[in-house]
Formats: sequence, C-alpha cells, structure tokens
Amino acid sequence: MVKELLKHLFKKPATLKYPFEKRDPTRGMRGRPVWDIERCVGCELCVKDCPSGAIEMFGKGSKAEFKYHLERCVFCGWCEEVCPTNAIMSSEDYELARQNMAEMIIEFKRQ
Ligand code: SF4
Ligand code: SF4
Repeated sequence: MVKELLKHLFKKPATLKYPFEKRDPTRGMRGRPVWDIERCVGCELCVKDCPSGAIEMFGKGSKAEFKYHLERCVFCGWCEEVCPTNAIMSSEDYELARQNMAEMIIEFKRQ
C-alpha cells in the first residue's frame, strides 16, 4: 500500500480545476443540439421522436420555429438522427448551467 501511495503522490491529478481548466470536447460528443432553422422543412419528426419532450414547434412547414427545453433534454442525439434535412446538429457546448428556468428555454427563430 505504501508503494502504491508513493507512486500516486507525485503523479499529476486525473481531474481538472474546472472551470479554470477545461478539457477539449471529444470528437463526436453530443452536447446541446442546435438548429439551422433555414434548413428546416417543418416535418415535425424531431418533436414527435424526442423521448423527453424537449422540443416545441410553432408554425408549419417552412415557417416552423422552435423552443428547445434544455432542462428536459437527455442529449441522446436522436433529433439529429431523424431530421431529414440535417437542420439539427449536436454542438460541442457542454457548459449548460443556467441561472434560472427561463434561460433553459432556447428559441430558434427565422430571420
Ligand atoms: S438530444 Fe434527445 S432529448 Fe435532446 S432534444 Fe434531441 S431528441 Fe430530445
Ligand atoms: S426534423 Fe428537422 S426538418 Fe423536421 S421539423 Fe425537426 S428540424 Fe425541421
């Protein structure tokens, strides 16, 4: 045990001093999904298939706009999978803490 203790005493810690130190996002990570709203055709598949009801859609077809509920999302990436026009992408944003519930709702609107 002493040998093991001494071995680890001079090793760099495995953890980081977050938020002062940050790790680069891993390739293929599933962070907060984001919409490229201009690509959306309003098929509603993302809304229907989201397992946690995190996506609300307003308007129809090419006028569709979204409210994304960060507090409900489980980052499964399924919305990105099902979107036929690649209008949804999992971003590398993993810093998801917010001050209040209102900030958890992110809107994606057309210009
Ligand atoms: S990542 Fe999963 S839980 Fe989050 S909005 Fe997309 S489908 Fe819903
Ligand atoms: S699945 Fe894609 S195209 Fe269909 S409503 Fe969602 S974002 Fe728009």
